Amino acid sequence: MPAEFPDFRLGNVLATSFTATLTERHGDTVERIPTPRRLVDWLAVNGLAVDSCTTGQLGLAWDLRESIHAAATAAAIQDALPASAVQVINDRSAQGRAAAILTPDGNRRWRLSSASRVEDALGVIAADAISIIAGERDGKLALCASPTCQAAFFDTSQSRTRKWCEMNTCGNRQKKARFNANQRKNPTRQR
Ligand SMILES: [Zn+2]
Repeated sequence: MPAEFPDFRLGNVLATSFTATLTERHGDTVERIPTPRRLVDWLAVNGLAVDSCTTGQLGLAWDLRESIHAAATAAAIQDALPASAVQVINDRSAQGRAAAILTPDGNRRWRLSSASRVEDALGVIAADAISIIAGERDGKLALCASPTCQAAFFDTSQSRTRKWCEMNTCGNRQKKARFNANQRKNPTRQR
């Protein structure tokens, strides 16, 4: 795996794992799928393996990603869904031809109509986004409390009070910032 590309952030919700391929949207943005090859890698990790991807297909993916981000953000703050984002999500969903396959051991797998059909994979992601934005699944859309992030994430915690898109990154950074601020306020307590 080439070291020059930033790592993926993998969650357990497909649509928001996908939107997390661009992070720090309100800070120094990090693009985690900057090339077609990197999108191929991401899809493979998420059970949607394709054997190739064109720059045009990568463009469709970016467009879908930002549309999901816009619609999920609006849903999280109970705002009206942006029509252009809804259109893109619906177009990608309608153009996907992936089939849900039940494996002998009782798991669901996606079968794409052909190994070069990135559009099928995007259709699966779009449908996943529709199910969480429509409120069909157990959980709640929320925005990350980190001011440089503000990513929309799907909170499945029992109390629905999760604050950060990811504890290991945004959560820890916020805690560290608060700790440092307290140390400055109470310099005598240092060391
Ligand atoms: Zn975050």
